[in-house]
Amino acid sequence: MEEREQNMKKASVTVISLGGTISCTPATGGDGVVPTLGASDLVLSLEESASDVDIRPLTWSTRDSSEITFAELVDLAAEVRKQFDAGAQGVVLTQGTDTIDESAFALDLLLGTDNPIVITGALHNPSQSKSDGPANLQAALQVAISPELREVGTVVVMNDEIHSARWVRKSHTSNSAAFQSPGVGAIGWIAESHPVFAVKPFHAVKTPIHGATGAGNVALITAVMDEDPTIVDSILSLGYKGLVVDGMGGGHVSGGFSKALAKAAQSIPVVFASRTGSGSVLRNTYSSPGAEVDLINHGLIPAGSLPGLKARVLLTLLIRSGATSTEIADAFATHGGYPPRTTQPLHPETNYA
Ligand code: GLU
Repeated sequence: MEEREQNMKKASVTVISLGGTISCTPATGGDGVVPTLGASDLVLSLEESASDVDIRPLTWSTRDSSEITFAELVDLAAEVRKQFDAGAQGVVLTQGTDTIDESAFALDLLLGTDNPIVITGALHNPSQSKSDGPANLQAALQVAISPELREVGTVVVMNDEIHSARWVRKSHTSNSAAFQSPGVGAIGWIAESHPVFAVKPFHAVKTPIHGATGAGNVALITAVMDEDPTIVDSILSLGYKGLVVDGMGGGHVSGGFSKALAKAAQSIPVVFASRTGSGSVLRNTYSSPGAEVDLINHGLIPAGSLPGLKARVLLTLLIRSGATSTEIADAFATHGGYPPRTTQPLHPETNYA
């Protein structure tokens, strides 16, 4: 068969690289490794030739993932849509693993199920014998051309597992199996080079967030024993446009902290999540000062099953897209995965001063 005819049958996948360990090489004249490899280098490193895929490499950046910004992800989402419009059947993104749990959810919210992408990386760089980048990229390519991806949205493929962007967390500093979805598990896996989708997430993003090009930063703090509530006043005076508190247990803080949060909730959206990392924050079980009933009565928004890290991503994109207080509350009810409202309103209406 002519090469041209073969290419016509191949699925085309754009591989966009952003740096991270998968792109690292030994630093010249120094210790350690730094990201230097671009998308073409990563594609060349594939051991199995991806004969059923026509790969188009695109180097976006070669940096540590700690440098990624929300503004950059908004631009990247536009580039991904452009790739799909130009005929790509799939898009794979490679990046540093440190912030995949945030960037994956941000891109899921920005792209929705119409333009899902597959994100991957490596825990071990190409100069190490246990380098996992090529195998992860190979697996990601196979997932990217699966029709099932359109039903589940953006996913993270690492260590032969497929995780939903909504749930995935980096849960180990250095293990190849660092990516887990606490309380839920992977939604699929790779078997003999082919993706197997086993579970369909309930919270696939049908309506993406548009126009998140505005300004506004959201602070994320963890509620801890014997915390000084004046940290909340400092956050307000620094000009943050939103605040997420990773609360204790079911979403709790101390009574003193609750007073400071209640004051903050009069001027900016304040969301409470749980520092436990899985389960949903409570809404109507405990009513002591600082417990969930008190927080909700003071205008705080419960994050449902979104942990603080994911809640900050959602709140940042909502604020930057100009969402109203009602839209913010509704978005947390939807993405937080609460059961349908019964008798009690989810959130008192707040007009931020
Ligand atoms: N500096 C890396 C990053 O960009 C380390 C983590 C990794 O890629 O595995 O996140």
